Amino acid sequence: MVMMRTMIIGMMKKITKTNNTMSKTYFSEFQSDIAVAILSKDDWRYEVMKPLFEVCGFGFAETSSGCVFIDGEVKLNKHELKWVEAHEVAHILLKHTKDRNDKDELDADTLAYKLLSENGYDKSAKLVKQHSIERHGHQI
Ligand SMILES: [Zn+2]
Repeated sequence: MVMMRTMIIGMMKKITKTNNTMSKTYFSEFQSDIAVAILSKDDWRYEVMKPLFEVCGFGFAETSSGCVFIDGEVKLNKHELKWVEAHEVAHILLKHTKDRNDKDELDADTLAYKLLSENGYDKSAKLVKQHSIERHGHQI
């Protein structure tokens, strides 16, 4: 895991704006020092990250370096994409470790709901609420 972390941090440092790829990297508006990378498969980083997407789902957060990676090959609409971003940013803000439990997921969605509502992403916030019963067993 240490090797993986070193590799991820190294890659994030190398991230530059590339014109020939669909990938997008930006700083999150929910927390300005958190970098978000949406990776598509024409980006060399996608293949490196794919095993992690397979384990973690649409996205994952690298808490120590403050980086969020989102699978750009999963067809998410812009509202779902913002939810994933807010959820992963929440994991970092809440300083969750790699081994996440159900409570971590609930807390991340609860904070994501707050971040989304406060920043005017009402449709994304609504999605968090709509899916909370299937995801957490009760309404957020
Ligand atoms: Zn999560």
